[in-house]
Amino acid sequence: MAWTKNVLRVNLTAGTCTTEPLNMTWAREYLGQRGLATKYLVSEIDPAVDPLSPDNKLIFATGPLTGTMAATGGRYSVITKGPLTGAIACSNSGGYFGAELKFAGWDLLIFEGASPKPVYLLVTDGRAELVDATDLWGKTVWETEEHIKKAHLDPQIRVAAIGRAGENRVLYAAIVNDLHRAAGRSGVGAVMGSKNLKAVAVRGTRTDAYRLADPEAFFAATEAGKKALAANGVTGQGLPAFGTQVLMNVINELGALPTRNHREVQFEGAQAISAEAMKQKRPTDGKANLVTNGACFGCTIACGRISRMDPGHFSVKDKPRYHGASGGVEYEAAWALGAANGVSDLEALTYANFLCNEDGFDPISFGATVGAAMELYDLGVLTKEIVGFEMPFGSAEALVKVAELTASGEGFGQEIGLGSKRLCAKYGRPELSMTVKGQEFPAYDGRGLQGMGLAYATSNRGACHLRGYMVSPEVLGIPEKMEPQATEGKPAMLKAFQDLTAVVDSSGLCIFTTFAWGLSDIQPQIQAACEGDWSGDRLLTMGERIWNLERGFNLAAGLTCKDDNLPPRLLNEPAPTGPQKGAVSKLGEMLPEYYRVRGWTTEGVPTAETRARLGV
Ligand code: SF4
Repeated sequence: MAWTKNVLRVNLTAGTCTTEPLNMTWAREYLGQRGLATKYLVSEIDPAVDPLSPDNKLIFATGPLTGTMAATGGRYSVITKGPLTGAIACSNSGGYFGAELKFAGWDLLIFEGASPKPVYLLVTDGRAELVDATDLWGKTVWETEEHIKKAHLDPQIRVAAIGRAGENRVLYAAIVNDLHRAAGRSGVGAVMGSKNLKAVAVRGTRTDAYRLADPEAFFAATEAGKKALAANGVTGQGLPAFGTQVLMNVINELGALPTRNHREVQFEGAQAISAEAMKQKRPTDGKANLVTNGACFGCTIACGRISRMDPGHFSVKDKPRYHGASGGVEYEAAWALGAANGVSDLEALTYANFLCNEDGFDPISFGATVGAAMELYDLGVLTKEIVGFEMPFGSAEALVKVAELTASGEGFGQEIGLGSKRLCAKYGRPELSMTVKGQEFPAYDGRGLQGMGLAYATSNRGACHLRGYMVSPEVLGIPEKMEPQATEGKPAMLKAFQDLTAVVDSSGLCIFTTFAWGLSDIQPQIQAACEGDWSGDRLLTMGERIWNLERGFNLAAGLTCKDDNLPPRLLNEPAPTGPQKGAVSKLGEMLPEYYRVRGWTTEGVPTAETRARLGV
């Protein structure tokens, strides 16, 4: 029984906090975190709701392995209807906040309504109260965390907060915990801002918060899991030493690194923003960008990057608050802030990443939107008069300026804060938005890696690499090698990845474990932690159930098979260089087969038989 079996329901309109028992029927069908919170959400809101209205709900959810000794068992998710996409939004974060929430005695926090004034929720062992946050409105994430810790005289309080981006309804605003860990995608921070909820502060010390079903078996399973992570080349060596940035040069050489708003697939500056560059001493101050690696709660991989900027860099030379060590660029952020807009100044990328953490906005969607704006500028659609400054591809100065404006909600930053779909539509060039369902692509070109193109098109939360990471078979050969340009077998492989990912995202574990772990490593940990039957088959069926539940929500919200698509550039403009030269996405070949293996109609709707089989 690794659940606390407690749900905290916070009505922000009325200012009330009430406790209710966890729906254990649903917990046995959806496990926790992503799956369980999605079940609550779709059962409680109208799918057609305006995401930024009080009628939308916002759920913070832990998994049954959150806060346990399982390696990487510190995750939590935030589930809501996303303002960037109008689709289901589920963003997953690490750090220490999730485990603290579990130790305080809660599986789920459900926020409903909207507060008439800014508040934050203070959660301690079995207790919760709303606290006036009027003085915190307008403050950054970093200032908010410091203020709350000082106000309660407790440096061990864990804080998840929005910055000014969430307050200003930046449509890809994030919720940031532990200063630089984020529920980053799809605009969950904007929903929090729309509710006048500045932060959730948690302190938990309960040793009886949950009980493992079989502690001895759990100890054995988690120990075996840790040994497997240590013995694996990716999780035992590559990620600790280089972080996810280990991929920068690999993906570039493969010809799948989207560059300058996907005009190109290889970036001449990739080496300068790579993991290797982060370790090299700078000629300017003789120090390296990378200080050390970092780990989330319970993690034995430690892929996190901690960086310190050159204090003489133009972006921070007069700003001492950025001279200390903080969260450095991971691969997706380095790509979005760098290659996507042609900027190869690692220090400028690090500064922009600091701002994303400090004021809470997603570096992927932000960087990709800057890339779209730079293409509009290159074409003469945007001008210096509109933007307020010159914005050519490759300008580190423009990146820094627009990051500051997006953080503060001023000037052209307000337009960048709406994301590339709305930006490109406003200026009459919607085809230049590199998005699916309104969410910007991450760091892999859908022409260079055919399976990733299909993964983007079919992701329930818009373009995303973390819903079905086809990079594993297409680049790393995990669990088997699939050629990047092949299409055969990829729809079925993607379905398997999507379903397994839904299981991991519902457990409390980090998806990066799956570089080393298969279902046979994960299943014994869940089985030993949770009461009931958690066989591998049952878990995969649960993953499929979650995927179809999300799909059903999206269809009811008004999305259709037309939204399972890619921008015309990926379908029609061949990759110009590299090993994938000449490739365009073969989405049209793969999508009908994907619908078939999913048990959906040719219109992408789950059949009655599929729904009955899964119970959705
Ligand atoms: S692998 Fe990285 S992201 Fe995942 S839990 Fe560990 S440190 Fe956090």
